[in-house]
Amino acid sequence: MKFTQPRLPYAPDALAPVISQTTVEYHYGKHEKTYIDTLNTLIEGTEYQEMPLEEIILRSDGKLYNNAAQAWNHIFYFFQFSPDGLKEPDGLLRTRIEEQFGSVDEFKKKFEEAGATLFGSGWVWLSEDNNGQLVITQGGNASNPLTQGLRPLLTFDVWEHAYYLDYQNRRADYLHRLWDIVDWDVIGMRFS
Ligand code: MN
Repeated sequence: MKFTQPRLPYAPDALAPVISQTTVEYHYGKHEKTYIDTLNTLIEGTEYQEMPLEEIILRSDGKLYNNAAQAWNHIFYFFQFSPDGLKEPDGLLRTRIEEQFGSVDEFKKKFEEAGATLFGSGWVWLSEDNNGQLVITQGGNASNPLTQGLRPLLTFDVWEHAYYLDYQNRRADYLHRLWDIVDWDVIGMRFS
């Protein structure tokens, strides 16, 4: 079984100016594609060949883990954006965010802080744990909350390749602007 790169549900320039067409062309077109291509090469003829991607992430380490998790993370990242999605969380997810973080704005602030304070490359995540609690986590390199038994809902990529063309060293600006393109309908579906 080969993993194929899913097509984006929007045009490459649709997220601009928050994420430019050039960044989408490199980040989705080159980085994400390379992780998926490398993953396919690594699993060919091995015990991992017929496994779902999530299972590979849970069972592998080293180079295979890195490429499997990066494939999963990037697909998850790009599918949560839309130029005309739901701009704020609603329903039960909104209630839970307000209960746990005080308000949606306080949640966003904490999430941005987690992304800004991660040293080096990695990811910041909102996940749900086994007790139904929402948790913000940060992790280096190809970090993925599935390995901690969490259910991921939202992620911001804080590798420099995600923002350097558009924001140079201003990672905090990039994190803050991403809220303009997050589609909370997608996050709500992941939550329910
Ligand atoms: Mn990336």
